[in-house]
Amino acid sequence: MIPTILPTYNRAPLAFVRGEGSWLFTADGTRYLDLGAGIAVNALGHAHPDLIAALTEQAGLVWHTSNVYQIPAQQKLADLLTEATFADTVFFTNSGTEACELAVKMARKYWFDQGRPDRTRILTFEGAFHGRSAAGIAAAGSEKMTKGMGPLLPGFTQLPFGDHAALDAAIRDGDVGAVLVEPIQGEGGIRTLPDACLKGLRDLCDATGVLMILDEVQCGMGRTGRLFAHEWAGVTPDIMMVAKGIGGGFPLGAVLATENAASGMGPGTHGSTYGGNPLACAVGARVTQIITDPAFLAEVNRKAGLLRQGLEGVVAAHPDVFAAVRGSGLMLGLTCRVPCADVVKAGHGAGVLTIAAADNVIRILPALNIPDADIAQALERLDRAAASLAPVGSHAR
Ligand code: PLP
Repeated sequence: MIPTILPTYNRAPLAFVRGEGSWLFTADGTRYLDLGAGIAVNALGHAHPDLIAALTEQAGLVWHTSNVYQIPAQQKLADLLTEATFADTVFFTNSGTEACELAVKMARKYWFDQGRPDRTRILTFEGAFHGRSAAGIAAAGSEKMTKGMGPLLPGFTQLPFGDHAALDAAIRDGDVGAVLVEPIQGEGGIRTLPDACLKGLRDLCDATGVLMILDEVQCGMGRTGRLFAHEWAGVTPDIMMVAKGIGGGFPLGAVLATENAASGMGPGTHGSTYGGNPLACAVGARVTQIITDPAFLAEVNRKAGLLRQGLEGVVAAHPDVFAAVRGSGLMLGLTCRVPCADVVKAGHGAGVLTIAAADNVIRILPALNIPDADIAQALERLDRAAASLAPVGSHAR
């Protein structure tokens, strides 16, 4: 018999009833150190007092009106985001997937309005993840996501990740309108596009007029130690997808764009009943105020250094379990020598939560404000998890 919840997830036998900072608690009071943060969503940990205050204050005023009216909380968040980034304009969504839908539509509409309705092709990269909608799976193109789901939305071509020569060749095809890339692939296994690639991509886009769309749904909002990951490379996109961390756990996403890239999106070209809802935007504004503080980002970088150094030690101590640490800031991955699902499960036994990804990687995506003492706990618990997997006598601890 089919479960009453559609079984599209392989769920762990764990249910959490309460969260506090970097910790989650089961009904019997057992605590787990959350190094997944709901897959990079709980950017400020669980039950952050400022976010509870922002949500409850808005909840006592008005929950929903509609985008047919002005929404002050939405305007406030749009102002914060445009002040802090390359963007001139923002559209709010409820998720990263919806941000992908709009990014694709915006790029195509841009070229239509330029008198080039043929420039519909969007170049993407193997291993990418942009969501589970028809556009999202067509953009990623992997067999795993698309098999049996056809006919797929046409107009996407996947290139090898980070292969600049392939990009250079493909981008010159006359029908290309945009390139869509994650600066760091999350679901793809914490694979970082080198800064030089991102710079080279910007140069190619400038030379050809192709729009650069960055998917910062997972790597954005302070996760790498800058507000957005592309800032490390000193380039700016034309369109950017944001979600996950921006809502701190409340469903919220956004598409940020330059005035030029967004020029085709007038009244009636896009919409959303819930997108930019007052509750989501009240929380999002508070999250954004906290994360854009340079002192907060400096702390993210310091904590990232501490965590990375410790993880290098855990990897070195368990060469039968782990191969290497990779990633940037607090978006880290451990490549595994045993099935990564076994490592995640061993973590549950040791009271630490990590997230599996492609390429046999476990993701370490803690709250950006994880206390140093919890970083120490993380290392201790990961060490214990690895020790429970390694063959007896195989490591030097
Ligand atoms: N883009 C990236 C890079 C993601 O990591 C995700 C989700 O994991 C998405 C898009 C889709 O976002 P959502 O699940 O909020 O629809």
